Amino acid sequence: MNIVVSIKQVPGTTKVAINPATNTLIRAGVEAIINPFDMYAIEEAIRLREKFGGKVTCITMGPPQAEEALKSAIAMGADDGILISDRAFAGSDTLATSYTLAMGIKKFGQFDIILTGKQAMDGDTAQVGPGIAQWLNIPFIAWVKKIEDVKEDAKTIRVERMMDDGYEVLEGPLPILLSVVKEINEPRTESLRGKMKAKNFKATVLSAKDIEADPDFIGLRGSPTIVNRVFVPVRSGKKELVEGATVEEKVSKVVASLRESKLVN
Ligand SMILES: Cc1cc2nc3c(=O)[nH]c(=O)nc-3n(C[C@H](O)[C@H](O)[C@H](O)COP(=O)(O)OP(=O)(O)OC[C@H]3O[C@@H](n4cnc5c(N)ncnc54)[C@H](O)[C@@H]3O)c2cc1C
Repeated sequence: MNIVVSIKQVPGTTKVAINPATNTLIRAGVEAIINPFDMYAIEEAIRLREKFGGKVTCITMGPPQAEEALKSAIAMGADDGILISDRAFAGSDTLATSYTLAMGIKKFGQFDIILTGKQAMDGDTAQVGPGIAQWLNIPFIAWVKKIEDVKEDAKTIRVERMMDDGYEVLEGPLPILLSVVKEINEPRTESLRGKMKAKNFKATVLSAKDIEADPDFIGLRGSPTIVNRVFVPVRSGKKELVEGATVEEKVSKVVASLRESKLVN
Protein backbone atom coordinates (compact mmCIF):
# COMPACT_ATOMS: atom_id res chain seq x y z
CA MET A 1 0.00 0.00 0.00
CA ASN A 2 1.36 3.42 -0.96
CA ILE A 3 0.63 6.01 1.69
CA VAL A 4 1.44 9.71 1.27
CA VAL A 5 1.48 12.01 4.29
CA SER A 6 1.32 15.74 3.67
CA ILE A 7 3.17 17.51 6.47
CA LYS A 8 3.69 21.18 7.17
CA GLN A 9 6.59 22.78 9.01
CA VAL A 10 5.25 25.40 11.43
CA PRO A 11 6.75 27.71 14.09
CA GLY A 12 7.17 25.84 17.38
CA THR A 13 5.59 28.71 19.28
CA THR A 14 2.49 30.88 19.09
CA LYS A 15 4.57 33.94 19.93
CA VAL A 16 5.45 34.80 16.34
CA ALA A 17 5.65 38.41 15.19
CA ILE A 18 3.78 39.60 12.11
CA ASN A 19 5.41 41.80 9.48
CA PRO A 20 2.87 44.66 9.16
CA ALA A 21 4.09 45.58 5.67
CA THR A 22 3.68 42.13 4.11
CA ASN A 23 1.10 40.63 6.52
CA THR A 24 3.24 37.49 6.80
CA LEU A 25 4.78 35.73 9.79
CA ILE A 26 8.36 36.61 10.69
CA ARG A 27 9.80 33.10 10.80
CA ALA A 28 13.52 33.97 11.04
CA GLY A 29 15.07 32.73 14.27
CA VAL A 30 11.92 30.85 15.32
CA GLU A 31 12.24 27.13 16.06
CA ALA A 32 10.33 25.07 13.49
CA ILE A 33 8.46 21.82 14.16
CA ILE A 34 6.17 19.46 12.29
CA ASN A 35 2.59 20.70 12.64
CA PRO A 36 1.45 18.72 15.73
CA PHE A 37 -1.69 17.37 13.97
CA ASP A 38 0.51 15.97 11.19
CA MET A 39 2.37 13.81 13.72
CA TYR A 40 -0.83 11.77 14.10
CA ALA A 41 -1.03 11.41 10.31
CA ILE A 42 2.58 10.14 10.15
CA GLU A 43 1.92 7.68 12.99
CA GLU A 44 -1.23 6.35 11.32
CA ALA A 45 0.61 5.91 8.02
CA ILE A 46 3.37 3.91 9.74
CA ARG A 47 0.75 1.73 11.47
CA LEU A 48 -0.97 1.08 8.11
CA ARG A 49 2.36 0.07 6.58
CA GLU A 50 3.08 -2.21 9.54
CA LYS A 51 -0.28 -3.91 8.98
CA PHE A 52 -0.51 -4.00 5.19
CA GLY A 53 3.08 -3.50 3.98
CA GLY A 54 4.02 -0.85 1.43
CA LYS A 55 5.65 2.53 1.71
CA VAL A 56 5.14 5.77 3.62
CA THR A 57 6.21 8.93 1.78
CA CYS A 58 5.99 12.32 3.42
CA ILE A 59 5.63 15.41 1.28
CA THR A 60 5.96 19.03 2.25
CA MET A 61 5.85 22.36 0.47
CA GLY A 62 8.09 24.97 1.99
CA PRO A 63 11.50 26.65 2.01
CA PRO A 64 14.70 24.53 1.86
CA GLN A 65 14.78 24.28 5.69
CA ALA A 66 11.48 22.34 5.59
CA GLU A 67 13.69 19.33 4.80
CA GLU A 68 14.19 19.16 8.58
CA ALA A 69 10.51 18.23 8.96
CA LEU A 70 11.01 15.36 6.50
CA LYS A 71 14.08 14.21 8.43
CA SER A 72 12.02 14.09 11.63
CA ALA A 73 9.38 12.02 9.81
CA ILE A 74 12.10 9.63 8.62
CA ALA A 75 13.37 9.37 12.21
CA MET A 76 9.85 8.38 13.26
CA GLY A 77 9.72 5.63 10.64
CA ALA A 78 8.63 7.11 7.30
CA ASP A 79 10.39 5.61 4.26
CA ASP A 80 10.88 8.63 2.03
CA GLY A 81 10.38 12.38 1.81
CA ILE A 82 9.67 14.89 -0.94
CA LEU A 83 10.26 18.62 -0.60
CA ILE A 84 8.43 20.88 -3.02
CA SER A 85 10.39 24.09 -2.96
CA ASP A 86 10.72 26.99 -5.36
CA ARG A 87 10.68 30.78 -5.08
CA ALA A 88 7.79 30.67 -7.54
CA PHE A 89 5.59 29.29 -4.72
CA ALA A 90 6.08 32.38 -2.49
CA GLY A 91 2.83 34.02 -1.41
CA SER A 92 0.72 30.92 -1.99
CA ASP A 93 -2.69 30.87 -0.32
CA THR A 94 -4.46 27.61 0.52
CA LEU A 95 -5.74 27.17 -3.04
CA ALA A 96 -2.26 27.50 -4.56
CA THR A 97 -0.71 25.41 -1.76
CA SER A 98 -3.15 22.55 -2.30
CA TYR A 99 -2.65 22.74 -6.09
CA THR A 100 1.13 22.59 -5.67
CA LEU A 101 0.95 19.64 -3.27
CA ALA A 102 -1.51 17.82 -5.55
CA MET A 103 0.84 18.27 -8.53
CA GLY A 104 3.75 16.98 -6.42
CA ILE A 105 1.73 13.94 -5.35
CA LYS A 106 0.77 13.27 -8.98
CA LYS A 107 4.44 13.34 -9.88
CA PHE A 108 5.12 10.86 -7.11
CA GLY A 109 2.97 8.27 -8.90
CA GLN A 110 0.59 5.65 -7.53
CA PHE A 111 -0.94 6.19 -4.09
CA ASP A 112 -3.76 4.52 -2.14
CA ILE A 113 -4.21 6.78 0.85
CA ILE A 114 -3.18 10.41 1.46
CA LEU A 115 -3.19 11.53 5.09
CA THR A 116 -3.13 15.09 6.42
CA GLY A 117 -3.57 16.64 9.84
CA LYS A 118 -6.98 18.15 10.56
CA GLN A 119 -5.49 21.66 10.35
CA ALA A 120 -2.21 23.54 10.63
CA MET A 121 -1.62 25.27 13.94
CA ASP A 122 -0.40 28.50 12.29
CA GLY A 123 -2.65 29.01 9.26
CA ASP A 124 -5.49 27.06 10.88
CA THR A 125 -7.78 27.04 7.86
CA ALA A 126 -8.15 23.22 7.43
CA GLN A 127 -8.52 23.91 3.70
CA VAL A 128 -5.38 22.30 2.29
CA GLY A 129 -6.46 18.64 2.79
CA PRO A 130 -9.81 18.97 1.00
CA GLY A 131 -8.09 21.21 -1.56
CA ILE A 132 -5.58 18.47 -2.48
CA ALA A 133 -8.42 15.93 -2.79
CA GLN A 134 -10.35 18.30 -5.06
CA TRP A 135 -7.37 18.91 -7.35
CA LEU A 136 -6.72 15.16 -7.55
CA ASN A 137 -10.44 14.44 -7.99
CA ILE A 138 -10.51 11.85 -5.20
CA PRO A 139 -12.86 11.55 -2.19
CA PHE A 140 -12.07 13.22 1.13
CA ILE A 141 -13.12 12.40 4.69
CA ALA A 142 -12.39 14.92 7.47
CA TRP A 143 -11.74 14.37 11.22
CA VAL A 144 -10.96 10.65 11.01
CA LYS A 145 -10.50 9.24 14.50
CA LYS A 146 -10.11 5.58 13.56
CA ILE A 147 -9.34 3.55 10.46
CA GLU A 148 -11.53 0.49 11.01
CA ASP A 149 -10.62 -1.54 7.96
CA VAL A 150 -8.94 -1.40 4.57
CA LYS A 151 -9.92 -3.93 1.91
CA GLU A 152 -7.01 -3.85 -0.51
CA ASP A 153 -8.59 -6.20 -3.06
CA ALA A 154 -11.95 -4.40 -3.06
CA LYS A 155 -10.11 -1.06 -2.81
CA THR A 156 -12.32 0.31 -0.04
CA ILE A 157 -11.71 1.83 3.38
CA ARG A 158 -13.97 2.14 6.42
CA VAL A 159 -13.32 4.86 8.98
CA GLU A 160 -14.84 6.53 12.01
CA ARG A 161 -15.23 10.28 11.60
CA MET A 162 -15.45 12.38 14.77
CA MET A 163 -18.56 14.51 15.16
CA ASP A 164 -19.58 16.95 17.93
CA ASP A 165 -22.09 14.47 19.35
CA GLY A 166 -20.42 11.11 18.63
CA TYR A 167 -18.97 9.58 15.48
CA GLU A 168 -20.01 8.44 12.02
CA VAL A 169 -18.85 5.27 10.25
CA LEU A 170 -18.09 6.01 6.61
CA GLU A 171 -16.88 3.82 3.79
CA GLY A 172 -15.16 5.11 0.66
CA PRO A 173 -13.17 3.92 -2.34
CA LEU A 174 -9.38 4.05 -2.65
CA PRO A 175 -7.53 6.22 -3.46
CA ILE A 176 -8.80 8.61 -0.81
CA LEU A 177 -7.61 11.54 1.30
CA LEU A 178 -8.24 11.50 5.04
CA SER A 179 -7.59 14.29 7.54
CA VAL A 180 -6.99 12.91 11.01
CA VAL A 181 -7.68 14.17 14.54
CA LYS A 182 -5.48 13.65 17.58
CA GLU A 183 -7.82 11.00 19.00
CA ILE A 184 -6.66 8.55 16.29
CA ASN A 185 -3.42 7.41 17.97
CA GLU A 186 -0.42 8.28 20.11
CA PRO A 187 2.53 9.28 17.88
CA ARG A 188 5.71 7.34 18.57
CA THR A 189 9.00 9.04 19.40
CA GLU A 190 11.95 8.97 17.04
CA SER A 191 13.91 5.69 17.27
CA LEU A 192 17.71 5.49 17.38
CA ARG A 193 17.68 3.57 14.09
CA GLY A 194 15.37 6.18 12.60
CA LYS A 195 17.61 9.01 13.77
CA MET A 196 20.62 7.34 12.13
CA LYS A 197 18.67 6.99 8.88
CA ALA A 198 17.48 10.60 9.09
CA LYS A 199 21.04 11.86 9.55
CA ASN A 200 22.04 10.75 6.05
CA PHE A 201 18.65 11.36 4.48
CA LYS A 202 18.43 13.71 1.49
CA ALA A 203 14.92 14.63 0.37
CA THR A 204 13.94 14.62 -3.28
CA VAL A 205 13.48 18.31 -4.07
CA LEU A 206 10.93 19.22 -6.71
CA SER A 207 10.67 22.65 -8.33
CA ALA A 208 7.68 24.25 -10.06
CA LYS A 209 9.09 22.97 -13.36
CA ASP A 210 9.60 19.44 -11.98
CA ILE A 211 5.95 19.13 -10.98
CA GLU A 212 4.83 20.73 -14.26
CA ALA A 213 2.87 23.38 -12.39
CA ASP A 214 0.77 25.84 -14.36
CA PRO A 215 2.25 29.31 -13.50
CA ASP A 216 -1.30 30.71 -13.24
CA PHE A 217 -2.08 28.38 -10.32
CA ILE A 218 0.98 28.84 -8.11
CA GLY A 219 2.41 31.53 -5.82
CA LEU A 220 0.81 34.96 -5.62
CA ARG A 221 -0.56 34.70 -9.17
CA GLY A 222 -2.49 31.55 -8.30
CA SER A 223 -3.74 32.93 -4.97
CA PRO A 224 -7.12 34.66 -5.12
CA THR A 225 -7.14 35.28 -1.33
CA ILE A 226 -6.20 38.81 -0.32
CA VAL A 227 -5.05 39.40 3.24
CA ASN A 228 -6.09 42.94 4.18
CA ARG A 229 -4.54 43.05 7.62
CA VAL A 230 -3.15 40.61 10.16
CA PHE A 231 -3.28 41.65 13.80
CA VAL A 232 -3.45 40.34 17.33
CA PRO A 233 -6.86 41.34 18.74
CA VAL A 234 -6.74 43.58 21.79
CA ARG A 235 -8.69 42.29 24.78
CA SER A 236 -10.69 45.28 25.91
CA GLY A 237 -13.44 43.67 28.05
CA LYS A 238 -13.23 44.47 31.75
CA LYS A 239 -13.68 41.64 34.22
CA GLU A 240 -15.99 41.78 37.21
CA LEU A 241 -16.42 39.23 39.96
CA VAL A 242 -20.06 38.90 41.03
CA GLU A 243 -20.51 37.78 44.61
CA GLY A 244 -23.63 36.80 46.53
CA ALA A 245 -24.95 34.31 49.05
CA THR A 246 -27.21 32.45 46.60
CA VAL A 247 -27.29 31.72 42.87
CA GLU A 248 -30.46 33.86 42.55
CA GLU A 249 -28.73 36.82 44.16
CA LYS A 250 -25.71 36.48 41.84
CA VAL A 251 -27.95 36.15 38.75
CA SER A 252 -29.95 39.27 39.80
CA LYS A 253 -26.72 41.22 40.15
CA VAL A 254 -25.52 40.06 36.71
CA VAL A 255 -28.87 41.05 35.11
CA ALA A 256 -28.79 44.44 36.85
CA SER A 257 -25.26 45.02 35.66
CA LEU A 258 -26.16 44.07 32.08
CA ARG A 259 -29.19 46.40 32.19
CA GLU A 260 -27.02 49.18 33.50
CA SER A 261 -24.58 48.74 30.64
CA LYS A 262 -27.58 48.62 28.23
CA LEU A 263 -26.60 45.12 27.03
CA VAL A 264 -30.14 43.85 27.86
CA ASN A 265 -33.46 45.65 28.35
C1 LIG B 1 -2.78 35.56 0.37
C2 LIG B 1 -1.94 34.63 1.18
C3 LIG B 1 -0.56 34.69 1.06
C4 LIG B 1 0.23 33.83 1.78
N1 LIG B 1 1.55 33.92 1.64
C5 LIG B 1 2.35 33.12 2.32
C6 LIG B 1 3.76 33.20 2.20
O1 LIG B 1 4.28 34.02 1.47
N2 LIG B 1 4.53 32.34 2.94
C7 LIG B 1 3.94 31.41 3.76
O2 LIG B 1 4.67 30.64 4.39
N3 LIG B 1 2.61 31.30 3.89
C8 LIG B 1 1.80 32.12 3.20
N4 LIG B 1 0.47 32.04 3.34
C9 LIG B 1 -0.08 31.00 4.21
C10 LIG B 1 -0.25 29.73 3.42
O3 LIG B 1 -1.15 29.89 2.38
C11 LIG B 1 -0.81 28.67 4.32
O4 LIG B 1 0.09 28.52 5.39
C12 LIG B 1 -0.90 27.33 3.61
O5 LIG B 1 -1.71 27.43 2.48
C13 LIG B 1 -1.48 26.27 4.50
O6 LIG B 1 -2.71 26.68 5.00
P1 LIG B 1 -3.01 26.38 6.51
O7 LIG B 1 -1.83 26.79 7.29
O8 LIG B 1 -4.32 27.01 6.84
O9 LIG B 1 -3.12 24.79 6.54
P2 LIG B 1 -4.38 23.84 6.83
O10 LIG B 1 -5.28 23.85 5.64
O11 LIG B 1 -4.99 24.17 8.16
O12 LIG B 1 -3.60 22.49 6.92
C14 LIG B 1 -4.28 21.23 6.87
C15 LIG B 1 -3.28 20.16 6.58
O13 LIG B 1 -2.80 20.30 5.24
C16 LIG B 1 -1.42 19.91 5.19
N5 LIG B 1 -0.60 21.07 4.79
C17 LIG B 1 -0.87 22.39 4.95
N6 LIG B 1 0.12 23.13 4.45
C18 LIG B 1 1.05 22.28 3.96
C19 LIG B 1 2.32 22.42 3.34
N7 LIG B 1 2.86 23.62 3.09
N8 LIG B 1 3.00 21.30 2.98
C20 LIG B 1 2.47 20.07 3.21
N9 LIG B 1 1.29 19.87 3.82
C21 LIG B 1 0.58 20.95 4.18
C22 LIG B 1 -1.05 19.42 6.59
O14 LIG B 1 -1.28 18.04 6.65
C23 LIG B 1 -2.05 20.15 7.47
O15 LIG B 1 -2.30 19.48 8.69
C24 LIG B 1 -0.36 32.88 2.65
C25 LIG B 1 -1.73 32.83 2.78
C26 LIG B 1 -2.51 33.69 2.07
C27 LIG B 1 -4.00 33.62 2.28
